[in-house]
Amino acid sequence: MASGCQSFFFLLLFFQCTWFIIPSEFFSPLTAFGQYAEPSFIAAKQKNSKIAQEYSEQRLQISINGLPKCSYQQNQCRRIGIIGGGAAGLYCGILLAEAGHTVTIFEATDRAGGRILTYRDPKNPTKYMGEFGAMRFPLSRHPYLNQLIRERYKLNITEFSSPDDNAYTYINGILTRNKQARENPDIFQFNTSASERGKTPNRLFSDALQTIHQTFFNGGWSAVVKQWDSYSMDSYLHHMNLSRAAIDYIAISRGSEGFLFTSIVESVRSINLPASDDKLYQIRDGNDQLVRSMVDDCRAIQSNRCSILYSTPINQVQLLASNEIQLRTNNGTNQIFDTVVVATSPTVAQLFEFEPRRDFIQKYLALRQVHYICSSKILLFFNVSWWYVQEHISGGSSTSDLPIRSIYYPKTTSNQTDGGTLLASYTLGPNSIIWQSLSDSDAIELVLQQLIQIHRNSSNMRNYFQGGKVKHWCQDPHVRGAFAYLIPFQETELVDKLEASVSNVHFIGEYTSFVHGWVEGALSSAIRVAEAITIESEITVPTNGLQKIEQLYDLEINGSIY
Ligand SMILES: Cc1cc2nc3c(=O)[nH]c(=O)nc-3n(C[C@H](O)[C@H](O)[C@H](O)COP(=O)(O)OP(=O)(O)OC[C@H]3O[C@@H](n4cnc5c(N)ncnc54)[C@H](O)[C@@H]3O)c2cc1C
Repeated sequence: MASGCQSFFFLLLFFQCTWFIIPSEFFSPLTAFGQYAEPSFIAAKQKNSKIAQEYSEQRLQISINGLPKCSYQQNQCRRIGIIGGGAAGLYCGILLAEAGHTVTIFEATDRAGGRILTYRDPKNPTKYMGEFGAMRFPLSRHPYLNQLIRERYKLNITEFSSPDDNAYTYINGILTRNKQARENPDIFQFNTSASERGKTPNRLFSDALQTIHQTFFNGGWSAVVKQWDSYSMDSYLHHMNLSRAAIDYIAISRGSEGFLFTSIVESVRSINLPASDDKLYQIRDGNDQLVRSMVDDCRAIQSNRCSILYSTPINQVQLLASNEIQLRTNNGTNQIFDTVVVATSPTVAQLFEFEPRRDFIQKYLALRQVHYICSSKILLFFNVSWWYVQEHISGGSSTSDLPIRSIYYPKTTSNQTDGGTLLASYTLGPNSIIWQSLSDSDAIELVLQQLIQIHRNSSNMRNYFQGGKVKHWCQDPHVRGAFAYLIPFQETELVDKLEASVSNVHFIGEYTSFVHGWVEGALSSAIRVAEAITIESEITVPTNGLQKIEQLYDLEINGSIY
């Protein structure tokens, strides 16, 4: 595949042949979507890389056909405790319980889903209002999530609102529609060098990344990490001789100002370049439908082998001499398991008492050091779709250097103008911090003022304003952050420690995968550990894969295995 690809014009080659993953936070109105890893390409090109392992043939088969049954090989079934009922914990629990293990999922709150958090009208919970967490899914690039949403649960999906030329870019006090910003990149008066003029920020960025792409094609991902992991986005762009003004222009317009000092390797893995026609999706009536399906799935597994204990936070994980593990809940009750899976964020897990502590020294270090960023979302509700009626914006997003940073409009058509929810401010990293110091009412008022600064023809939007709702992920005691975003050296030094198991205590969650900031990463980590527990339980994973696993799967369906 690589040789075929190499005959294309470089950028085309980049879009079509690479497997880089875009993080959810980097979609901006000036950019479209990069190209996600084709698993077969990764496998062919990256046999030994950890990223390739995330999409190994065996793991893809597990996502389709499940794990081999533990009872097929006499008493290899385990008692498994899972801490955390987010996407990772639920999926891991379902896979293991379906394979015959007995799974108990401990969830600290009174609901499952974690960072999949749909906001509904409190007076009418059937009324969908918006998403505070995961909001869009590039299903064609996220095979594990695609398998769940489209194949396993057959959920109704709808396209996430696509970029709109009529939305705005407001930078350096200059307001333009997105179309003009694209067609006249010098309009914002950045003091770029002569050779940089006339280029869009995306073009400047993709040109600067050519050196890394060359490293990739010559030596694969491990060569990229070896050569570039010590560089931040800022120092790499300097190294490529970009002017300060060009670096600032790239960072502001791509919404990555707060990521300038994060790792360039993370940025490249998470690349977001134009020219892909890949679509983003959301689940009709709310992404929490996925969580509901998973909870129902867990409950439906025979013999109560998958149970969820809500409002049951765990605070201690103790390795016992018997090789069992004791979990202690906040109210002091204990339960003993053969295997434990920690499925919380690292910022939560580092407060757990892991005993004996000396066995977890490297784990604590990794949990403390991994770069975890904040995010705030502020939703505003309107009873007239003024953005469509008055500004001709039917979706997409606006970008600005105002504190609100990005605005996302709901998909709107001419026969549906009776209002909706605006994601009126979406901030990440340091940009989220200022919002956290404000009361919700002050934050909402400030957002309205900044919206009016951008939508000058719609200062009457206050007449249609129905209220707002604020979510700061760093202030959520059960997550304490939004997602992992690595800084220089962390890919080299920390990734192994983050995902490493300690005895039969395993760690999953978005931060332990390479797909940071996406539900896909949570699912991928769940499959990794479900596979590891299968191997640890000495259950042979059939090497002829699909066929044998299908046989086992059929046995379960026919009920003859139990
Ligand atoms: C603002 C934002 C936007 C995002 N946008 C997207 C997007 O558009 N698309 C996308 O695919 N992804 C997106 N993501 C990322 C995605 O939501 C996460 O990667 C994914 O949901 C993480 O799942 P998880 O299971 O790893 O962790 P979590 O969802 O955090 O689950 C951990 C669970 O552990 C529980 N818990 C905490 N403490 C304890 C305890 N002591 N005992 C027991 N349980 C405990 C928590 O309550 C929680 O339910 C976004 C995330 C954020 C924050």
